[in-house]
Amino acid sequence: MIDSKFRKLRTIVRSKSKEVIDHIALNHVHRGESKRNDAEICIFCYNKVDVTKEHVLPTWAFANNLQRYFDTDINGIKQFYIKAVIPACSNCNNNLLGSIEKYIYNLFKNTNFKDSYFSNEEKQNIIRWLELIEYKFQILEVRKNFWHQKSMDILNTSQIYQFRF
Ligand SMILES: [Zn+2]
Repeated sequence: MIDSKFRKLRTIVRSKSKEVIDHIALNHVHRGESKRNDAEICIFCYNKVDVTKEHVLPTWAFANNLQRYFDTDINGIKQFYIKAVIPACSNCNNNLLGSIEKYIYNLFKNTNFKDSYFSNEEKQNIIRWLELIEYKFQILEVRKNFWHQKSMDILNTSQIYQFRF
């Protein structure tokens, strides 16, 4: 069932979060002209194989509208949803994230909001899904923020390591 997918993803993220954050820190802090150019990693399981691009917000949620965007903290730069992607391996993408997206999509699609409501279990799963989106947004932000720092010194890394999904 769907909660086993959430549980599995959460377990993976928790067991790999230190490696993932270390990798982002190493690769995204700007060091003068040079930048470490290691291969992308899956931000969920730290896999380096078959890394694909995963939309932070699923395309159906913004109706595939290429013009929709949100403002970021960095000089008010526009971030288009269509370009808001994070790396995820095809295994996580297909086996875990895909099932979760499909479940959530159908939940919204099949619920008649005029005369029915989500069950408590469905609400729990929507909250878990939102937490997952929040995690992806945090990773997206931290990758960008690192890029605008000159060194690790000014970063409060302890805060970063608190990222949890
Ligand atoms: Zn993965």
